[in-house]
Amino acid sequence: MRRISVFGATGSIGQNTLDLIAREPERYAVVALTGSSNVARLAEDAIRLRAEVAVTADESRLGELRDALAGTGIEAAAGQGALEEAADRPTDWCMSAIVGAAGLVPGLRALRHGGTLALANKESLVCAGPLLMAEARAHGARVLPVDSEHSAVFQALADNDPAAVEKIVITASGGGLRDWPLERLATATPDEAGSHPNWDMGTRITIDSASMFNKAMELIETHEYFGTPPGGIEAVIHPQSIVHALVQFRDGALMAHLGAPDMRHAIGYALHWPERRDLPVERVDLAALGRLDFAAPDPARYPALALARGVIAGGGLRGAAFNAAKEAALDLFIARAIAFTDMAGCVETTLDEMERSGCLDAATITLDMVLDTDREARARTRVP
Ligand code: NAD
Ligand code: MG
Repeated sequence: MRRISVFGATGSIGQNTLDLIAREPERYAVVALTGSSNVARLAEDAIRLRAEVAVTADESRLGELRDALAGTGIEAAAGQGALEEAADRPTDWCMSAIVGAAGLVPGLRALRHGGTLALANKESLVCAGPLLMAEARAHGARVLPVDSEHSAVFQALADNDPAAVEKIVITASGGGLRDWPLERLATATPDEAGSHPNWDMGTRITIDSASMFNKAMELIETHEYFGTPPGGIEAVIHPQSIVHALVQFRDGALMAHLGAPDMRHAIGYALHWPERRDLPVERVDLAALGRLDFAAPDPARYPALALARGVIAGGGLRGAAFNAAKEAALDLFIARAIAFTDMAGCVETTLDEMERSGCLDAATITLDMVLDTDREARARTRVP
């Protein structure tokens, strides 16, 4: 039996992960499941999957969680310290699916067991990529990408020599507002930006899809995970979300990964790697689809992409500042304090201010530096 934990078990990725695990319960011993506000779901899943411990990030919910688990023998815990303690419990496989920079520390700690970290939490790579990858190397652990594009790249690379890669192309649906006239975008509400044509995901990433801050994060993620130079990474709009990524080799061959837009593809691949096992996902019927479209993203509609390129080129603590400013700008938009189209400007202002103060340069980064930068960028990101 493989010992596994799922961080962010109550979210969209977490629930899809539990769906796969619950189909073959005899293969897994569930160690920790974590969530935050949705304590009822967390407790129900912990009981159903016989977890050792259930942790809510929200300390005020500990009583509720204890009550829900009373008499089951499952431990209940709450707060940041409890999340870290849960990550310290040895596992063979751990899903990192907390949303935001809050996922970084549990992921870093889980790497110490030397097993596999299935990484959905792209924020970890964006804000602390070199740190995360170094921690994995130091402990002989493996990080497997769960973002659909990066799982697709990983699969398309297969056993090829990384030096033979000329370019990595990740696709973007363009999000829920793709076909809106540019001048109407400023009026988009969080609900409008938070509905997606192809993917069923958490609210924050869905809004990030509409602004393409998600794709911007993924450009950085590609650079951090695969070591691809900025000039060798491209994002292309593909409204059908069937081709997830392509790898172009130095001989001009372009290897694509296709699949239905269902995160259980990428999650299942990381769960079963290096094996390929049956997955309950829809099969792509090319003839029924008839066509696949591609287009270059309009820089005026998606300013986040250019910001990400600056972050990759500059390195240091720019990813940590970018991610935190993006999260803070998203909070402001969700609270309706700024318009959808103000988010990129807010992030840019924060990055510019921090650039001028010289605090983003660092040859090597530490966790404390990342956490300080995160705090400062959040504090600086405000209504213009
Ligand atoms: P979600 O909002 O549905 O779920 C987030 C999870 O994190 C929940 O379990 C929640 O309880 C927990 N959480 C929230 N704030 C927390 C905090 N401060 N501390 C501890 N736990 C906290 O999000 P999601 O869509 O499942 O995304 C999870 C991660 O996966 C994100 O990093 C996202 O970018 C990435 N991702 C998601 C998808 C997708 O299809 N949903 C695809 C690719 C990558
Ligand atoms: Mg993605």
